[in-house]
Amino acid sequence: MVWLFDYDLTLYGAEERCVLNSLDHRISLFVQKTVGCDFEMAHKVRTDYLERFGTTLAGLMAMHGTDPDEFFDFIHEPEYLIYPKKAPEKLALLKSLEGPHFVFTNGRHDWSEAGMSHMGIDSAIDGVFDLKLLGWEGKPHESAYDKMERWLAQKLPTMGLEMPENKRDIVLLDDGLRNLEPAHRRGWTTVFVNPTTDSAPYVDYHIPHLMNLRDIVPTLIKM
Ligand SMILES: [Mg+2]
Repeated sequence: MVWLFDYDLTLYGAEERCVLNSLDHRISLFVQKTVGCDFEMAHKVRTDYLERFGTTLAGLMAMHGTDPDEFFDFIHEPEYLIYPKKAPEKLALLKSLEGPHFVFTNGRHDWSEAGMSHMGIDSAIDGVFDLKLLGWEGKPHESAYDKMERWLAQKLPTMGLEMPENKRDIVLLDDGLRNLEPAHRRGWTTVFVNPTTDSAPYVDYHIPHLMNLRDIVPTLIKM
């Protein structure tokens, strides 16, 4: 199995939403400074960009020529951010999963790397495939999954591993339902990590929390 983990609200769960909220606050400040409006208006602009462009960053790039690295440098200032708590139980869980573990995130790598270091799980992660490597076009764009597969095909041999012959052996865990559909179309195994009751036909497994992965691993690896 090749394990691909989304970072935000997947490796750390909904009970630590304050982590994402702290980043969100920085994004609104960046919008405020770029657009030249007040904080309340910045929130409206963000909602508008999210609807029209998929992400705030995509909207900023299209409408204001924002340099994505400048955006991430600003929002990732550590002194303004909250990070997930130490999670030795997650480290043990990750280490128990046979096969390589990668992060597949729509953020820039330094955000997930800092968070994983706070959680103490970084030693169980073999690499981060981030939005920068995706050419700033992330999940659920088809191109992101194409690039991920190509990256794996290059990365795995350097670890003495082979690209799985059966795509079912690539497992994506993500709290975002829409990110799982393209993965399913490619034949990957999809795990929806979210306490919601929503689901979709392209979800193979639904668990409320990362730690519940323990419950499904026995059936998942037998497929
Ligand atoms: Mg997420």
